[in-house]
Amino acid sequence: MHEVRPKVLKIAETTINAGSIRAMLEDLDGMTEHMDTVLQGSSSAEAITEVAGRICYRSYGVGVNPNITKVRTDSKEYFANTLSKGDGSIFEHASVTFAFLNVSRILTHELVRHRVGVAISQESMRYVRITDLGMWLPDELSVEQRMLMRMAIQDAEHNYQKIEKTFDWNKMTMTQKKAATSALRRIIPDGIATNIVWTTNHRNLRHVLEMRTDPAAEIEIRMVFDEVGKNCQELVAKYISRFRATSTGRWPWLVEGCITEEGMSTVDHPAHYNTGPMEVIDLIEGFA
Ligand SMILES: Cc1cc2nc3c(=O)[nH]c(=O)nc-3n(C[C@H](O)[C@H](O)[C@H](O)COP(=O)(O)OP(=O)(O)OC[C@H]3O[C@@H](n4cnc5c(N)ncnc54)[C@H](O)[C@@H]3O)c2cc1C
Repeated sequence: MHEVRPKVLKIAETTINAGSIRAMLEDLDGMTEHMDTVLQGSSSAEAITEVAGRICYRSYGVGVNPNITKVRTDSKEYFANTLSKGDGSIFEHASVTFAFLNVSRILTHELVRHRVGVAISQESMRYVRITDLGMWLPDELSVEQRMLMRMAIQDAEHNYQKIEKTFDWNKMTMTQKKAATSALRRIIPDGIATNIVWTTNHRNLRHVLEMRTDPAAEIEIRMVFDEVGKNCQELVAKYISRFRATSTGRWPWLVEGCITEEGMSTVDHPAHYNTGPMEVIDLIEGFA
């Protein structure tokens, strides 16, 4: 048995082809000063989201759609307005991929409950036979508790190895090995460290980020999504900047109409298991 720590790596993200977007906007008479600013001053994810959004109303600038007499030329305001209307679909164009390494099967089981807008590839416990059981033990355990936990894990590992030795692995086909490996995993604790690659679109990213950093969420997934939040603030500052780490470690998604003058929400957020009022430590520029 060896102790590990969960690790979060952002391994891929949306990249635009700015030249093609320029060509597209020129075709649409939409290559305005504002769109030029978007292409030069935004991340790829922000740019594709705004470009996709503005195609709906031809709102690249004043004069393109005669029905429109003014447009928001601040991207943050544009996103804030879109979010306040609940128009989430434009945030589905950009995606991000994370590798979550050394996370438990407890975490991955919770993660896969978020079904929408995701792609998932997880290490197989049918193909991969365990040789040394890795596990993260929560930091708040006392020295004695850690010792007892380690002993319990070593027991499971010992029993696993005892049963493993009863098979003649060298004479088995891959199909037989898979069946035996799958049978053996049944005695392995849920806390076993595993690896998973998780891709999501930004609409779902916002949702899961909020749900899984809630104080009511499990400690490991909170830790991991705290890292996800930090990684994504750089990526999409113009709309993930609406998240702010609070003193409880939560990343609330500010909901229009929920914030009082004191900066505290008086209503439960509609979308999750809320344990109390939303805490807002920092009203975001442009929202105050
Ligand atoms: C703190 C916490 C504690 C939890 N405790 C438990 C527990 O004790 N037991 C348990 O079983 N689960 C528990 N869960 C998991 C929870 O029940 C959900 O399965 C999980 O949060 C994913 O649901 P979601 O609404 O976020 O769905 P997602 O799959 O993330 O979907 C996002 C949104 O898309 C929409 N959507 C998705 N699928 C559909 C659909 N089929 N039809 C219509 N609309 C859809 C919904 O608006 C949904 O909110 C817990 C979650 C959290 C955050």
